[in-house]
Order: sequence, then structure tokens, then C-alpha cells
Amino acid sequence: MRALLISLLLAVVVGACSTVPGTGRSQLLLLSSGQEMKLGAQAYTEMLVHERVITSGNDAAMVQRIGERIAQSAIELLPESDAKRFRWEFKLIDDPQMINAWALPGGKTAVYTGLLPITGDEDSLAIVMGHEVAHAIARHGNERMSHGMVLQLGMLGADMGMRDMDPDDRAMIMAGLGVGANIGVMLPFSRSHESEADEIGLMLAANAGYHPEASIGLWQRMGAASSGSPPEWLSTHPSSETRIRRLQALMPEANKLYRRALNRR
Ligand SMILES: [Zn+2]
Repeated sequence: MRALLISLLLAVVVGACSTVPGTGRSQLLLLSSGQEMKLGAQAYTEMLVHERVITSGNDAAMVQRIGERIAQSAIELLPESDAKRFRWEFKLIDDPQMINAWALPGGKTAVYTGLLPITGDEDSLAIVMGHEVAHAIARHGNERMSHGMVLQLGMLGADMGMRDMDPDDRAMIMAGLGVGANIGVMLPFSRSHESEADEIGLMLAANAGYHPEASIGLWQRMGAASSGSPPEWLSTHPSSETRIRRLQALMPEANKLYRRALNRR
């Protein structure tokens, strides 16, 4: 049984390695892009049932316009990605308490009205939407699920390896392994996803003709809006200083894309 488990793990890891468009990082993906997009479309329908979607007015038009420009930018800038196959949708949800936006696999995107006072202008909202779309393009949801599946397989293997132990000891070790896996593997993993989405998203927004420098003030305002957050090592997000330092380093390249986009317009 243990040999079977190990060969299953190997098959999974060898057969499902992929490369993130834009950064070239290797990642483990166990769902196909078809499966992933189907899940995204289902989740989108289910989530929107409970929300009030705004379909007219300047803000809804702005969300739609930014979305279309970023989608086009992704298709141009990352031709190796799934962006051209996405069934893109961009909705504005009426919820003034919610400072949030998200994009699901397949490009199903939503922005909450509560985000708009923090973003303030179109360039800043484009930075947030670029970041969310970047998670979908880099297939982060799929990667998280895949790692969750492998961790569970590993836990199953560990549990089987301790078959002859005292049940209390065994339960304690398994609980410790679970917490360790969460803090040691899943959290830094989410944080690396955040940095990657910042990088890809910044390039997508700049290439769509949105000012990349807007990202600095934006993430400072977002950091202030979510003050009282847990320390960095326990959080899925990098601290705002770390984040801004990384963005500054990316700015020369982003500005180049931005100037090129302005010349084309
Ligand atoms: Zn994110």
C-alpha cells in the first residue's frame, strides 16, 4: 500500500508540472484548464445569486472597461497563457462594507462597491483588477487545490506509517503535522502567490495603459484599510512595506510597458 501511494504521488508530480506565464515559475497542477474553468463558472453563478449586481451607471461601466482592457492586455502580453480561451466577465457588486475584488478561474471577475472609495481613481482600480486577474491567469486556485490534495495523500501515508502506535500519540502527531503543514507550507505558498499576482498584475495594468505608479499609493491605502492584521509570518499577505519594496523594483519594467501603451493609443 505504501509503495502504491508513493508511485501515485510520483505520477502526480511528474505528470502535472506546468509553468506560470509571465514569471516562469514551475507549479503543480492536478486539474485541467477545462475542469478549472468549469468550476470557476459554476462558482461565479452561485456567488452572484446572493449579491446585488449593478448593471448601469459610470462605476459599472468603468469596471467593464478596465476588465476588457486588462483581458486584452493579458492576451497580448502572455500569449502562452489561457487568457484567450477565458470566458471573461466583469461585474460590480453593490456592497459598500466589502473592500474586496476577486477573479475566478476562466476570468470571472467581481468588484465590490466598498473598494471604490479606497481605489479612488481608474488607474488604482486597474491595479487591483490586474492583481485579481493575475491570480486566475497564473492558475493559483488550481495550484492550491493540487497542493492540498498532495498534503492529504502525505498525511494518509504518515498515518499508515504509524499504524502500530498508541492511538493518542498518533492523533497528537497527526494534529502537529497538520498545523505544521499549514504554517510551513500553505501560508508561505499563499504569500508567494500574492507577490506573483502583484508582479503579473502590475505588468497587465501597465500594458493596458494604466499608470503603474498608482500601485504604490493604492497598496498603502489598502494596508491602512486592513490595519490590525496578523503578523506577516501568520498572514497570507506580505506586509505592505515588503510589498511596496518589491513593486518599486518592478517599476522600470512596468513604466516601459506603460509608455509603449500610451504611444499606441
Ligand atoms: Zn491576491
